[in-house]
Amino acid sequence: MSSDLEIAQSAKLRPLTEIGEQLSLSPTDLEPFGHYAAKIEPAKLREAGSQRGKYVVVTAVTPTPLGEGKTTTAIGLVQGLGKLGKKVVATLRQPSLGPVFGIKGGAAGAGYSQVVPMETLNLHLTGDFHAITAAHNLLAAMVDNHLQHGNKLDIEPHSITWGRVLDMNDRALRNIVVGLGRKVDGVPRQSRFDITAASEIMTIVAQSADLPDLRARLGRIVVGFNTSGEPVTAEDLKAAGAMAVLLRDALRPNLLQTLEGQAALIHCGPFGNIATGNSSIIADKFALANTDFVITEAGFGADLGYERFVNVKCATSGLVPDAAVIVVTVRALKLHSGRHKVVAGKPLPPELLEENSADVEAGLSNLAHHLDIVRKSGVPAVVAINAFPDDHESEHQVIKDFAASKGVACVVSTHVADGGEGAQELAKAVVEAADQATDLHFSYEPEDSLEDKINSIATKVYGADGVKIEPAAAKQLARFTELGFGKLPVLIAKTHLSTTADPADRGAPTGWTLPIREVRLAAGAGYVYALAGAMQTMPGLGTHPAAEKMDITPDGRIVGLF
Ligand code: ADP
Ligand code: MG
Repeated sequence: MSSDLEIAQSAKLRPLTEIGEQLSLSPTDLEPFGHYAAKIEPAKLREAGSQRGKYVVVTAVTPTPLGEGKTTTAIGLVQGLGKLGKKVVATLRQPSLGPVFGIKGGAAGAGYSQVVPMETLNLHLTGDFHAITAAHNLLAAMVDNHLQHGNKLDIEPHSITWGRVLDMNDRALRNIVVGLGRKVDGVPRQSRFDITAASEIMTIVAQSADLPDLRARLGRIVVGFNTSGEPVTAEDLKAAGAMAVLLRDALRPNLLQTLEGQAALIHCGPFGNIATGNSSIIADKFALANTDFVITEAGFGADLGYERFVNVKCATSGLVPDAAVIVVTVRALKLHSGRHKVVAGKPLPPELLEENSADVEAGLSNLAHHLDIVRKSGVPAVVAINAFPDDHESEHQVIKDFAASKGVACVVSTHVADGGEGAQELAKAVVEAADQATDLHFSYEPEDSLEDKINSIATKVYGADGVKIEPAAAKQLARFTELGFGKLPVLIAKTHLSTTADPADRGAPTGWTLPIREVRLAAGAGYVYALAGAMQTMPGLGTHPAAEKMDITPDGRIVGLF
């Protein structure tokens, strides 16, 4: 099989005006960026109206460090539904430059299920991430400028949580000192850089209903506290208006296409650990108002991205999903048998590719766990076996037998090798599931205390016995509640590599307690997040970053980008 880039480069793309027509967009409703990417005119987004299409979310079992193919399956499913003659749109996150140059994969699908043009998609696209970076850093500059010019708001410098961001994996910027030099060079203090995907503004753009909502959320960003312990906001610093100016276009989704010519709306890319890990509400709402099926992806396993999709994204948007696809791979279940060791950043051990249905069977507890999460949320489920070249029929059968015993539809999908043709059975199963009724259940209510919300996620979603909140975290929870943030949803920042807080755990362990060490506030994005483990918000590069393989030919053709 050709490389992903070769397949993408040899694809014959359709004029974007044809793609726009699928969403009832006339050529004047599109603002083109080059020939094959466009932003949608704001007026069209404003008049989006109510949900008409079926809303399908793609989630997965607990992944191996390589990812199990949610993006690929989401795109394959869109192409499969296209083959069935359905009007369908993919709504996906925009890839971050950090992973593009860091590790291979995780971008725009794979093989014959991709969003194109893949170079445009992976490299800057229409500049949204740069706008988010600029808005974030403008606020940072205004914080430091405020300290420089007399600190009228009485900000306690050590309490400042607003750092700077960059869309690059650059570990050397994790901990920095700003303001070194002479008196005119600023007030020295320790700070940090995060990757742009971890910026609160990334989630703000993803969660915003419209421009006024974006503007209000930006104003609510808490940058730190004054010496009396009261929050200091972007509004207090008079920064929010200018930030909204920078973000005006970033709030509009980007229209691209799949390899088979269905519309793909690419928008936002919040981190999956400390943020929501889901693409934008605006894109989903617009797509749902204008087409029959909308396929979106929720990052990581169902314990993380899907939990937030329901409890944060849908709770905010009011949208109700019609079906959830749980992606499972043979390699992930073999890993969940607990009989193999996988090191992040290293290739999978070769024995994982050998036919071994006993290992697959031993890992089924993990699939059972994620299926249970989806079922408890009241959304009809379909299990999609994302077929890899080294899979064996006997191994697929183990998964199918398990799904049959649970009464859930289960289909093998070969969309990476075969495109939409290979996802037709999956598409049929999804159409059927989406016709069943959803009885959407949230894991907690807004009125529940922050502690109770954490406890609900830990016990109902993760399968923990309970929660151990460290004294420092308990103090923060009390403080955030006192300051009026108690009604916000809670995200738990935990490893995506296991259902517990320990990345070495496999399967779906019970009889454990979730430790909460620290709690932070993202008031603009609209959530409180509790740290259950050390979270990296500025990734580093490995020994051989993907960047080493990339180059450009004299005629401007990119090589080595996947
Ligand atoms: P996720 O969205 O779940 O993180 P992706 O769809 O991005 O996963 O896929 C992760 C990686 O696995 C990508 O590098 C992709 O090329 C590869 N991959 C996914 N599905 C397949 C498949 N069926 N066959 C071969 N490689 C695949
Ligand atoms: Mg993905």
